[in-house]
Amino acid sequence: MPLDPPTMLTLSIALAAAAALYLAVEWGSVREPTLLFWSAGFATITIGSTLALLRGNGLLLIGIWFANGLLVIAHWLFLLGVARFTGTRLSRAWYLIFVTWAALLLLPDGPLWSKIMFLANSLLVALLALRASALLRPHGKSLSVGAVQLRYVLLAHGIFYLAKSLTAVVPGTLVDLAAFRGEIIQISLVEGAMAIMLIALSMTGTERHRREKRIARLAARDPLTALYNRRALEARAPRLLEEVSGTQPGALLLIDIDNFKLVNDLYGHGAGDRLLVALSEIIRSLLPERALAARLGGDEFVVLLSRASRERIVELGNRLREQFHATASRNFDTPEAVTLSIGASLFDQPPTSLAALIEQGDAALYESKRGGRDSIRLVDRSFMGGEGLRTD
Ligand code: GH3
Ligand code: MG
Repeated sequence: MPLDPPTMLTLSIALAAAAALYLAVEWGSVREPTLLFWSAGFATITIGSTLALLRGNGLLLIGIWFANGLLVIAHWLFLLGVARFTGTRLSRAWYLIFVTWAALLLLPDGPLWSKIMFLANSLLVALLALRASALLRPHGKSLSVGAVQLRYVLLAHGIFYLAKSLTAVVPGTLVDLAAFRGEIIQISLVEGAMAIMLIALSMTGTERHRREKRIARLAARDPLTALYNRRALEARAPRLLEEVSGTQPGALLLIDIDNFKLVNDLYGHGAGDRLLVALSEIIRSLLPERALAARLGGDEFVVLLSRASRERIVELGNRLREQFHATASRNFDTPEAVTLSIGASLFDQPPTSLAALIEQGDAALYESKRGGRDSIRLVDRSFMGGEGLRTD
């Protein structure tokens, strides 16, 4: 089949319609407005390219001015989608693009008509594509793979349109929009089909990557305190535990609130929740570098340390206890003190599993509870240790 302009346009219509439909279906399942803007962009291209076919019937205003205007609107919708995706507010100056396009209606007929239309259309599309690409620049935050792809596809597309506009000002270049004559128009039709595919693919990837990251983050966090949950701790602990050696012992602190039920019973579940959040904030503020903290469930938390020592564990444990006790007693008046019991384990060899380590911490925690609560019980399994330690 020859790659004549009507064939290429028909191909573009089919691709743009498929992209619009695909993005709309994606939007239907995730309700992310960005996808709707992009889907609308491709639907606009579908209509614009269909109208462009009418040039052959002599309908120049609809086939050229209107059809090319729709191409500009489509890129404007792409830009709106990207702005929405990156959370950027677009300046109102971008609306001037429509004024510029409407002003072209005043252009008198003549030999330059085609070239000026072509130049204006190429420049406006280039401007919109390059701005959208620039919005996807990483600024502080790292971009997902999909967003990086979209950024470069839009950049290449924008540069192509910029180069296309330059050809219009080169004397002697043939640009006949009415008859689709001129090499650059033919090349542009091929680029158009390619761009539709690449832009649509990277758009779906962009949103999907972000969604996957969001889901992974939700799956790893305890919803109340936003600390890691047990599953996330299990996934992250091996890297930290691998570093454990005789010179760099590791430690696990298992933390449980004493008499927490009293807060729930006397002040309500919501007050209990607030106390759990307060404890998570204290843990976060005292957490050393490269340490991990998680909520195992209920009122039980765990801290995993590398480069630990007896002194560091005791110091950290005591600061946690003091700060928590101060917070709890300031907010809740209870018949029994609401404090922290901590079971800690110091080790200088990578443990068989995190579960085994938690079991050791649990045994130490039980000792701490049995000994009257509000204390830290340390089991030292390092070469230099070998005995338990209790501080309160
Ligand atoms: P102990 O001193 O022996 O630790 O007793 P405790 O009163 O602290 O109670 P325990 O640790 O045995 O049980 C924890 C309680 O925490 C049980 C449950 O009602 C409550 N709990 C568990 N999850 C939540 C939660 O998400 N929010 C609130 N407010 N309470 C919770
Ligand atoms: Mg408790």
